[in-house]
Amino acid sequence: MLDINYIRNNSDHVKKAVTDKLMNTDIDRLLELDIQIRELTTLVDSLRAERNSLSKQIRDITENEECAIVEKVKAVKGKLLGLEGNLSVMKKEFDDIMLTVPSVPAIEVPIGKDEADNVEIRKWGEMPKFDFIPKDHIQLTEALDLVDIPRAVKFAGSRAYFLKNEGVLLEMAICRFVIDRLVAKGFTPMTVPLMVKESAMRGTGYFPIGYEQAYKLQEDELFLIGTSEVALVSYHQNEILNYDELPKKYAGYSTCFRREAGTYGKDTRGLYRVHQFQKVEQVILCRADDAQAERLHYEILNNTEEILQALELPYRVALACTGEIGIGQVRKHEVETWMPSRNAYCETHSCSTLNDFQARRSNIKYRDKDGMLRFAYTLNNTGVASPRILIPLLEVNQNEDGSVNIPKVLRPYMNNLEKIVPK
Ligand code: AMP
Repeated sequence: MLDINYIRNNSDHVKKAVTDKLMNTDIDRLLELDIQIRELTTLVDSLRAERNSLSKQIRDITENEECAIVEKVKAVKGKLLGLEGNLSVMKKEFDDIMLTVPSVPAIEVPIGKDEADNVEIRKWGEMPKFDFIPKDHIQLTEALDLVDIPRAVKFAGSRAYFLKNEGVLLEMAICRFVIDRLVAKGFTPMTVPLMVKESAMRGTGYFPIGYEQAYKLQEDELFLIGTSEVALVSYHQNEILNYDELPKKYAGYSTCFRREAGTYGKDTRGLYRVHQFQKVEQVILCRADDAQAERLHYEILNNTEEILQALELPYRVALACTGEIGIGQVRKHEVETWMPSRNAYCETHSCSTLNDFQARRSNIKYRDKDGMLRFAYTLNNTGVASPRILIPLLEVNQNEDGSVNIPKVLRPYMNNLEKIVPK
């Protein structure tokens, strides 16, 4: 959420953000409501004052005078009732629009529609070269008995899967490896509630736009999280943090649930796009300082790059264009790992700065050095998400005999297993 003062004074910037982010929030209507609400509030306040003063007069007057004043009070009350009704309808519309106002992208964010307009920043790593016909991850996991999709789909529906055998151990190894790396860098490891109230979804900007992407537990009025970021930001909902405790760095580990509404027929084979996956997420809360936030953005981007380099997986980093960054993001980098079977770099991590967009909605403040209360800034980046990361991991490390080498850094987490071999 943005500050209404900022919107009033920078309406052109905000309207441009709406256009560039391909949204349709009506900023003119918001500003019109803002003026009307302020005018009406003044009127309602003066009528309330009149009503109060008339009510006071009743106490000090004779019975004869009373009748006239009672009539006056009745008239004022009737008028007030109508105006207060109008005011609350207007406030509701105003609040609803405020929740859909996007943050303004940072100056360097390229304007564009979709991922084709993202700008490549750098590439790392050697492309794998095979002197045999390489298998894709579906053939590999079938042959090595690491995944079972048909049996999962039979009773759990599309995009369901089982991991099996070393598939499970590999996923656990990667997640633990990433958590260990982040803990060594000062992140606090956290498991989180997977079911949250609407306030957490709204507070982190996943609602109301994006409502259709979440699984709902209707009877309990709870929602399944699509990322631990929702819980980790909400951890500090309605809190005032100390200046000295910022930045706060969390490594969240959770299952993530995504309805993937609107992706029917897309990426239907294998493990690329599923409804439920494991993710280690980096989440930071910091001071409302653009320079500090920018530095931390590149720090968490670098953490991800170090992880992929340790796993020896080739990747590229791209700066996402305006059409590809969400409502709250002011800056986003996609990290895309090379997937041989897709013959492409594909998104495995995404690194975002949201300034105070989430903190305003979640009411997370800190007391600055000057004693003023300010909303904190938030950032996040994927540490690792599985099973998607298993695709490059298995495909890049395969051998002609159908076995797959385990990256050296993961072996200590897998009883020093060097290779997964066909049974
Ligand atoms: P996001 O939180 O949407 O930025 O996603 C972070 C990472 O989670 C992505 O880069 C993917 O690696 C992974 N991911 C997101 N959605 C899915 C999905 N439906 N299936 C598998 N992995 C996903």
